[in-house]
Amino acid sequence: MAAKDLFQELKFRDPVRARALSEAIGHEVAALGRRVSVMHVCGSHEQAIARFGLRAVLPPDLELIMGPGCPVCVTDGPEVDEAVALAVQGARVCTYGDMLRLPGTARSLADAQAEGAKVDVVYSVSQALELAEKHPEDEVVFLGSGFETTAVATAAVALASPPRNFSILSVHKYVPAAMNVVAESPETNIEGYIAAGHAAIITGWGIFEPFAARTGKPVVVAGFEPLDILAAILKLTELMRAGKPEVANVYPRCVTKEGNLAAQRSLWKVFRPVTGRWRGIAEVRDGNLDLTAEFAHLDARKRFRIDTAPVRDDEAEEAAKGCICGSIMLGLANPGDCALFGKTCVPESPVGACMVSSEGQCRIWHTYGGVPDLRKVGT
Ligand code: SF4
Repeated sequence: MAAKDLFQELKFRDPVRARALSEAIGHEVAALGRRVSVMHVCGSHEQAIARFGLRAVLPPDLELIMGPGCPVCVTDGPEVDEAVALAVQGARVCTYGDMLRLPGTARSLADAQAEGAKVDVVYSVSQALELAEKHPEDEVVFLGSGFETTAVATAAVALASPPRNFSILSVHKYVPAAMNVVAESPETNIEGYIAAGHAAIITGWGIFEPFAARTGKPVVVAGFEPLDILAAILKLTELMRAGKPEVANVYPRCVTKEGNLAAQRSLWKVFRPVTGRWRGIAEVRDGNLDLTAEFAHLDARKRFRIDTAPVRDDEAEEAAKGCICGSIMLGLANPGDCALFGKTCVPESPVGACMVSSEGQCRIWHTYGGVPDLRKVGT
């Protein structure tokens, strides 16, 4: 095959293939003969779906819902309080940009920064490590957020014997636990799930087999190009129609059944799953990743006495009512159902977590729109 043909094979935005996939999905849903709901659990999937207007090419009887797939959004207010308290107590807190404006019960890290606390935005945990090496006089605390994809990077740094003034405040979350929450919710009626390809690169697609067997719902692992997502929806509807609660992988160019075993070894050496609160969703069994006893010396919660009382305000948290992030993350509502969406809640002044992060559904729908109406295109 000529070199130019090899690259042609890598066409992921081919409108002819997209149309064919859309028609095939329509055929499957028509054959199902009822309205069906499927869920993805990934902010990156929602970004692609909204940006490319994929909901417009799905049949009206197929509802594509975003679940709790934004790790920033599910970071709970009291977890942010811990980071704010550490910053106020004098630590240098480093975290990813999306975490800066995430509200605690009363204040965000951006508020603490404006009041003079040392808060640094980093693009990677390695940058936080560099800051610790550059500022030996500071206690540098890395606020580690994200699902297992980013937890692996945090684990790698923990394993690399960081300097004594470096510690980790883990608010990392674990994706499979999020799917359990939705599947166990009596209010949801999801018939199939699209799993995030990047997380599955680490865990492997085999990790979803017990979930599919237990819930009787198929799972399809997908990449992030528009055709990846359409192919996943087609596969999901095929499995639904066949009544097969199986796991399929339409991202084989990156994901294997076993995943990255070396990364898994690092992850589970440094972290252990524990039950914890997710914002708007309540307790999630095995949903949080805490440092193991072996790495307790790096655990900011163990190294410092974190006093959140001065930065905590449960009444202010209550006042953020009207925000329906919890229902949105459980797939029970969409941003259009929130009376504040695009009015008092906008990216420049977010009321709730889903408008803060670039992976939050409210922020994504505000940027791209949620369910485009192709009849309006060109008018
Ligand atoms: Fe919360 Fe704002 Fe989304 Fe409404 S639009 S659910 S207030 S984040």
